[in-house]
Amino acid sequence: MEKFMKRAVELAVENVENGGQPFGAVLVKDGEIVSEGVNELHIKHDVSGHAELLAIRRAQEKLQLNDLSGFTMYASGMPCPMCFAAMNFVGVDKAYYCATLDEAKAVGLDKSAIIYEDLQKPEEKRTFLMGHMKLADEMQNPMKLWKKKMDR
Ligand SMILES: [Zn+2]
Repeated sequence: MEKFMKRAVELAVENVENGGQPFGAVLVKDGEIVSEGVNELHIKHDVSGHAELLAIRRAQEKLQLNDLSGFTMYASGMPCPMCFAAMNFVGVDKAYYCATLDEAKAVGLDKSAIIYEDLQKPEEKRTFLMGHMKLADEMQNPMKLWKKKMDR
């Protein structure tokens, strides 16, 4: 639906005019906008202040839901890996974006592209180190504790 994408881009333009990055997003269900967001990194020191994440957070709070299946995200720019994951975790059906990663890269917003590229590589070849660290057995294992609780 083009009108929802137009709204996302309009939000992104307003955000740039207000000193922020060029990202806006709207979350839609049954043909209605449920929530909106813009990139708020210029306002708060909070890495999760991305347009899509804020739209998700607002919809969840408004509807008191942990499952947003049936929702569609319209984002002015291709969602970053964090927002991609969040949309998956919360069950958003699908997302559409307007500006591509290349367009973002062209204006110096290259972090998403770098992370997406890194995720394509095997763990040991990634630029970001995330290593497995096994602890001694004497600690209580939270995974086993969880399983035990679920089995009750
Ligand atoms: Zn993001």
